[in-house]
Amino acid sequence: MHYEIVIVGGGAGGLELASRLGRAFGRRIGPERVLLVDRSHFHIWKPTLHEVAAGTLNPQQEGLSYSILSRNNHFSFMLGELVAFDPEGKKLTLAALKDEHGEEIIPERTISFGNCVLAMGSGSNFFGTPGAAEHAFVLENARDAQHFQQRLLALFAKAAYSQGKQLDVVIVGAGATGVELSAELMEAYHEIQGATGSKQHFHMHITLVEGAPRVLAGLPEKVSLQAMYALRAKHVTVLTDTKVQAIHANRVETSRGDLPADVIVWAAGIKAAERNQRFGLPVNRLNQFEVNDRLQTAAEGVYAMGDCSACPWHDGKFVPARAQAAHQQARYLARRFMALYAGKPFDESYEYRDSGSLVSLGDNQGVGNLMGSLAGKNFFIEGLIAKYMYMSLHLMHHKVILGWRKTALLALARIFQTRVSGRLKLH
Ligand SMILES: Cc1cc2nc3c(=O)[nH]c(=O)nc-3n(C[C@H](O)[C@H](O)[C@H](O)COP(=O)(O)OP(=O)(O)OC[C@H]3O[C@@H](n4cnc5c(N)ncnc54)[C@H](O)[C@@H]3O)c2cc1C
Repeated sequence: MHYEIVIVGGGAGGLELASRLGRAFGRRIGPERVLLVDRSHFHIWKPTLHEVAAGTLNPQQEGLSYSILSRNNHFSFMLGELVAFDPEGKKLTLAALKDEHGEEIIPERTISFGNCVLAMGSGSNFFGTPGAAEHAFVLENARDAQHFQQRLLALFAKAAYSQGKQLDVVIVGAGATGVELSAELMEAYHEIQGATGSKQHFHMHITLVEGAPRVLAGLPEKVSLQAMYALRAKHVTVLTDTKVQAIHANRVETSRGDLPADVIVWAAGIKAAERNQRFGLPVNRLNQFEVNDRLQTAAEGVYAMGDCSACPWHDGKFVPARAQAAHQQARYLARRFMALYAGKPFDESYEYRDSGSLVSLGDNQGVGNLMGSLAGKNFFIEGLIAKYMYMSLHLMHHKVILGWRKTALLALARIFQTRVSGRLKLH
């Protein structure tokens, strides 16, 4: 099997790239030329995983089928997990697909390519913390988030009928994921309290633990401060300058003592898959593929983008692992491939433009900074405007893969569904 362009990973970056290319090449050529591979049947925009985890976003409604997207955007889709890569031979291997009983449905497949873009994202970095992998939940994909949500519902019920009526949640890492998850879990807690009789009311206590001196350490201080006030107002306990030393089944050992925990979420850093080391391409200590400012790896015709790549930025820094970067890189590579296949010269390099960062703090609240061309200068926003701007990022992603009309319909459908079924998914 051969495709001119194979994109592995249909996430924030890979799916946008496949959609842009498929539409540019058109109905006849697109599916012949462009293949998207993903190990999942459906796509969820990763920055919404904290909402899936809290139950405020339903993945069955929000998930978009890759098969339908490929038909509408004129690219081919293949379900499978990349397990071997031969950059010299320009070949890759997808593992055999098995059903839940272990019976093989599709055998192992080998695909040859002209150009390949690796866009497999990243997972969690436990920094060698004992017990973290065994006892903490992570939010790496929709399955993890749903798994956590099921556990949360069970714990809500347990707390409601327990003697102490107390539920302790510990979240490790106060970057965007940890802060957003804390705020969203508080929303879920208030929804569930509102939906049950007062006899079932219980107290949920969230502790957010951070090793750095402030939350959202990568963002401007004013944004951190505002997020901190908002979390305090929601009764989230924030422990900064606190190192997590070990995770146990029901407690978190920290440099300030033990924290009791009915459930623990690890949201403290990213790392790409270990198997990236075996793909014959140079990787850094986070297993990210090293690329140049054209997103090329050391192998001819092999590119990497998004969280699984380490792309130089400025002053020895690398482009941050953000949906914003993946979105820009998809746009850049689409232009590059379109020029290549049109036989036109293309000598531009990729330059990351930081438009700022927005963090959701639950219902109708957000905080962030806007930078560069979007705002003219760096400035701070908060409240409802920040929340709406945050939501518009998700809409922009949907616009690339669905077009304006379907994006607007989807947004309306979500509003109506929430009116009918409530905000929290309880089943
Ligand atoms: C809870 C949360 C909140 C976030 N909030 C923000 C935010 O507000 N703003 C922001 O800019 N960023 C945010 N991020 C980070 C952002 O989600 C990532 O930077 C972005 O999704 C990276 O895009 P990507 O295309 O590189 O990878 P992903 O979007 O992770 O996609 C990777 C894809 O590759 C597939 N895949 C992986 N391995 C294989 C394999 N071996 N074979 C086949 N397919 C494979 C996966 O199924 C997935 O579809 C957040 C992340 C999380 C978890």
